[in-house]
Amino acid sequence: MAFILSLDEGTTSARAALYDAEGRNIGMESAPIACRYPQPGWVEQDAGEIWRTQIETARRLLERHRAGASDIAGIGITNQRETTVVWDRQSGRPIAPAIVWQCRRTADFCAELARSPASAEITRKTGLVIDAYFSASKIRWILDHVPDAKARARAGDLLFGNIDTWLIWNLTGGALHITDSSNASRTMLMDLDGYWDDDLLRIFDIPRAMLPRIVPSSGLAGHSAAIHLDGEIPIAGIAGDQQAALAGQACFRAGLSKNTYGTGCFALLHTGAHRPVSRNRLLATRAADTGTAPQFAIEGSVFVAGAAVQWLRDELGIIRTAGESEAIAASVPSTGGVYFVPAFVGLGAPHWDPVARGILSGISRATGRAHIVRAALESIAYQTRELVECMEGDAGESLRELRVDGGAAVNDFLMQFQADILGKPIVRPVDVETTALGAAYLAGLATGFWRSVEEVESFWRAERRFEPRMPQAECEHLYTGWRSAVARCRAPNQ
Ligand code: ADP
Repeated sequence: MAFILSLDEGTTSARAALYDAEGRNIGMESAPIACRYPQPGWVEQDAGEIWRTQIETARRLLERHRAGASDIAGIGITNQRETTVVWDRQSGRPIAPAIVWQCRRTADFCAELARSPASAEITRKTGLVIDAYFSASKIRWILDHVPDAKARARAGDLLFGNIDTWLIWNLTGGALHITDSSNASRTMLMDLDGYWDDDLLRIFDIPRAMLPRIVPSSGLAGHSAAIHLDGEIPIAGIAGDQQAALAGQACFRAGLSKNTYGTGCFALLHTGAHRPVSRNRLLATRAADTGTAPQFAIEGSVFVAGAAVQWLRDELGIIRTAGESEAIAASVPSTGGVYFVPAFVGLGAPHWDPVARGILSGISRATGRAHIVRAALESIAYQTRELVECMEGDAGESLRELRVDGGAAVNDFLMQFQADILGKPIVRPVDVETTALGAAYLAGLATGFWRSVEEVESFWRAERRFEPRMPQAECEHLYTGWRSAVARCRAPNQ
């Protein structure tokens, strides 16, 4: 059989990709998914649309490549994490819109929970910081707000799933209700060791009967129903998007790390079979497991990264395209002392300050558009350094290099500045579609399409390596300036 099929269901689009035996992407199809914002801070999607869009992209891809089920060795699935769907076991119909990971509707509930005595136990068991981001409070919300939902859930008539579970349930015609440990670790209901925890279920008042079975990220889970893709295909890989990207960057071992530069930044450091505890309020999470032992990672996120570039384009109108930011930033030798802290929605790790708001500081009469554009790109690198320093503190060792991907990783200015400000090499792979690739790796390893992790690791190729070249004193001087800009944005009224 010639290919692995990857289904990559993101927040803004569903994509399908085919990979050949050398791990090369030989085709991709994508289609947008709509988001709705019914109230400030609320974000919803239509789970039915997610499924239909995803299966349509897969069908189109196979048609375009004249491939059928018999050409596909296995399906890998990767997905936007935490997004919550609850549906009726009999009819297969969702009982409410999918609550998207970004949705803040349960923020008050979570703030109260964070102040309660249960808070320390939740963090100790799950590795997560209590926040509306994770699935548990979203499930709770649906059970509380849809008539009869609580009773139906207790009777076993309702099922919960993240998007992986929802897609697989549909793909198998309702035969499989499963998730993998990397997705389950984002629900706030799983003990990081890999089981649904009774105490957590009690705290959130969620019936166990709703929950999917947890399976390995790489393993034969079942088969797609013949009707969907013209024949049965093994479903053999499942991982949340950031964990899939970690696998797609061939980071299968402790000490390897990647940073994805998209709307925000997600940095993950693989810690192998060691269950990490973050002292710096990063998240401890499950990495995709490719063998029998559970695998772990430390994760840190920056809320606004590429989104700062979008803001320059869409709100300030000082650039026409995101790509243009590179040449404009490089047209000046420095920001001339300007710092831009894009704390549009507060600050994440290590500050965790929901009240902070963005600032532009150090502006003089000589400041022009190029300095501001440059300051926006530099802010992405400074925020990443803050995450990496926390990770190194948690891991007790320093990173050798950082592998990068995501939409903004194509920006050479940003990557060079990142290498400088981190004082570490930045390595960009040839294939930056690491999420879909990672899901393919997991499916290919499980089905024998690829023999070993070593074989898969051998596919990884650097496209470009950025070495640090800024003198250390200059770098520290700049970083000190960043820290004081952050301090100012945290105290807007002083
Ligand atoms: P996501 O998966 O979060 O939707 P992507 O990985 O597609 O994001 O990256 C898109 C983000 O990257 C946008 O916020 C955009 O502003 C930013 N971006 C895209 N190209 C560039 C570029 N050349 N330089 C800087 N930022 C960029």
